[in-house]
Parts: sequence; C-alpha cells; structure tokens
Amino acid sequence: MAALSWFWRLRGLHGDQVPLARELPAAVDDAPPEGLTEEYVLCLINTISGGADDDDPAAREHLDRAAVLLGSLHHQLCLPFIADGLHSLTRRLAFGDESRYLRFLDHYVAGFGVPDELGPDRTARLYSEPGRAIAVGNYDGDPDRAAALLVFRSEKLEFDRRDVAAQKRILAERFAGMGWETPMVLKALERADDLYFDAIAQIHVDRLTKGRVALLGDAGYGATMGGMGTGVAIVGAYVLAGEPALAGGDHRTAFAEYETRIRDFAKGCQKISGNAGPFFAPPTERRIRSRDRMYRILSSRPLARFFKKLTEKAATDVKLREYPRP
Ligand SMILES: Cc1cc2nc3c(=O)[nH]c(=O)nc-3n(C[C@H](O)[C@H](O)[C@H](O)COP(=O)(O)OP(=O)(O)OC[C@H]3O[C@@H](n4cnc5c(N)ncnc54)[C@H](O)[C@@H]3O)c2cc1C
Repeated sequence: MAALSWFWRLRGLHGDQVPLARELPAAVDDAPPEGLTEEYVLCLINTISGGADDDDPAAREHLDRAAVLLGSLHHQLCLPFIADGLHSLTRRLAFGDESRYLRFLDHYVAGFGVPDELGPDRTARLYSEPGRAIAVGNYDGDPDRAAALLVFRSEKLEFDRRDVAAQKRILAERFAGMGWETPMVLKALERADDLYFDAIAQIHVDRLTKGRVALLGDAGYGATMGGMGTGVAIVGAYVLAGEPALAGGDHRTAFAEYETRIRDFAKGCQKISGNAGPFFAPPTERRIRSRDRMYRILSSRPLARFFKKLTEKAATDVKLREYPRP
C-alpha cells in the first residue's frame, strides 16, 4: 500500500484513472494496517481527488475518516504542509470547504499542445474577440509543438473536473465560429491528451496555518495566471522549510514567522497578478482596441522598464533570512 500511495502522490490528481484507488479502502477495511496510517490516509484522499462533489456521501465519509485518522496522528506527524494546488483537497480537511476561499474571477482558461503550424518561435500570438481569446505560443523552442491558451468570459459553470470530454465540449461550444486559427486549435483540442481547464480564480484565506498544518503555494494564496504564482510558492516553501529549523522545531514560533513574512508578500503578488481574464478577452471590440494600444505603449522601451520594475517590486517585497542547514 505504501508503494501505491507513493505512486499516486507522484502521479498527482488522477485518482479516478487508477481503479485500485477506489477499490483499496474497501479491500483493507476501515482500519489502516499497522504503521501505515499516513499512507492509508493518502489513499483515502486519492480515492476522491480530482474534484470530489461535496454532496457525494461516499466522498464526505472518506474525507471525515481521513480527518479523524490525521487527528489521531498529530503527535507522530512532523508538520503537514498542504501544497496540492488551487483546489486542494487536503485544505478541505483542515480549513474547510473551498467555497469559503476561492474567488471566481468571471473567466475560464484552458491550455493544451497544438502542432507548431504558426512557427511562433519563442513568442506568442494572441487573437481576441469580445469575451474570448486564443493565444498560440512556443516558448521552449520545440519545432514540432506549440501550446494554445484559450480564455473566455463566463458565468460560473458547473462541470466535473475529472470529465475531460465534457470540458472539451464546453470549449468547442464557447469557441465555435471564432476567426483566425480557431479551426486548427479546435481540431487539436479534439485530440489533446494534456488539457488543462479551470476557472481563473484566487485563493484568500484568513490564516495560512492552523495547529500543526500550514498552507503553501496555490493552496494558500493561488492566483491562477498573472505571472507570480510559482515564485511566491517557492519563496513560501523556503520560509516554511527554514523557520522550523531556526525555531528549534517550535512550530508555533515558526508558523507565526511564516504568517508575518509570507502573508502580505503573497497578497501583494496576488494584487499584481490581478485578473488576467479581461486582458486576454476584453468584453467589447472597443476594449480590445484599447488593450492593443495600451500594450503597444507598455512594450515600448521606457515603459517596459517601468512595468518590469513594478512586477519586480512586488516579487521581491519580502525579507528572507538565512536558515541553518539540516
Ligand atoms: C494558465 C496558467 C498560467 C500561469 N502562468 C504563470 C506564470 O507565467 N508565472 C508564474 O509564476 N505562475 C504562473 N501560473 C501559476 C503557477 O502555475 C502556480 O502558481 C504554481 O504552479 C503553484 O504551485 P503549487 O505547487 O502551489 O501548486 P501546483 O503547481 O498546482 O501543484 C500542486 C500539485 O499537487 C498535486 N496534487 C493535487 N492533489 C493531490 C493529492 N491528493 N495527492 C497528491 N498530489 C496531489 C497536483 O497534481 C500538482 O502536481 C500560471 C497558472 C496557470 C493556470
């Protein structure tokens, strides 16, 4: 079971594609095998990962059971850091339902690989119509493959995060009849096996820590897209790994430092990230034209420097300490 659990941990949010994940809790009964409680909890969580429905009694029961088992483990566990992304399932265990923390920003974003027919060569091309946009870019220089990014404005949609076919249908409907390279992109979407699809959203929590548990990265201060999330997550990880060492293992002192050092920094980055939706997919033709004008000005040399300074200011607005090596 430990091996399986590690397999799922590495594989990420695809428990539904591993039938064993669903069979396991039934097979080993309610009680975890001796010495494998943490692994058992991980298996339980993975049986419902990928966007469990809150009303699903089986999912609720598994989450409750995982919470009880985790509670009984607190004296043995080191410090659980919750870092499983914007829709963190483990955050639900310790901090409650995602609806309390997730701010939906009226747009959706999708990404997947497309053939490199446009040859954008380490740049991207963006085409917008009111409320929807497609960008095709090739940043890694792979001559055979580019990436498409689709953004559209929308009311909140109900969909199963595990149902890729349904997500493809939503995208095909929303982008039907659009100009430029849309037919090529939609054709590639049909074949895509790497689809990412989600709301543009931010996570706002009151506190980043609770008891011995801490939120890290998107799970605690995610901002979907906007250019700061990875850096903030890495800085957060550095502080969260270093402070307990500096505090001699006293997690209360360490977590208080983490809150102080990362909270405002992360909030500042979320503010700069803002909502990229209306930038990609302005709601009217007029706004598209004014976005294009503004972007031309912003990418002129003097203003590009100013723009860079602005983002650098937010990205470096944190005091980092040296931590003892383990
Ligand atoms: C379209 C788009 C563009 C972006 N562009 C930028 C950019 O230009 N610059 C930038 O800095 N940031 C960008 N970001 C944001 C950036 O991707 C995130 O902020 C960053 O990935 C957060 O890292 P994380 O480790 O906190 O979460 P994630 O990268 O989401 O990692 C969480 C991991 O946990 C795994 N997981 C989930 N549940 C479980 C489970 N039950 N068991 C085990 N594993 C689990 C997931 O599979 C995943 O691998 C962008 C985001 C999007 C969506």
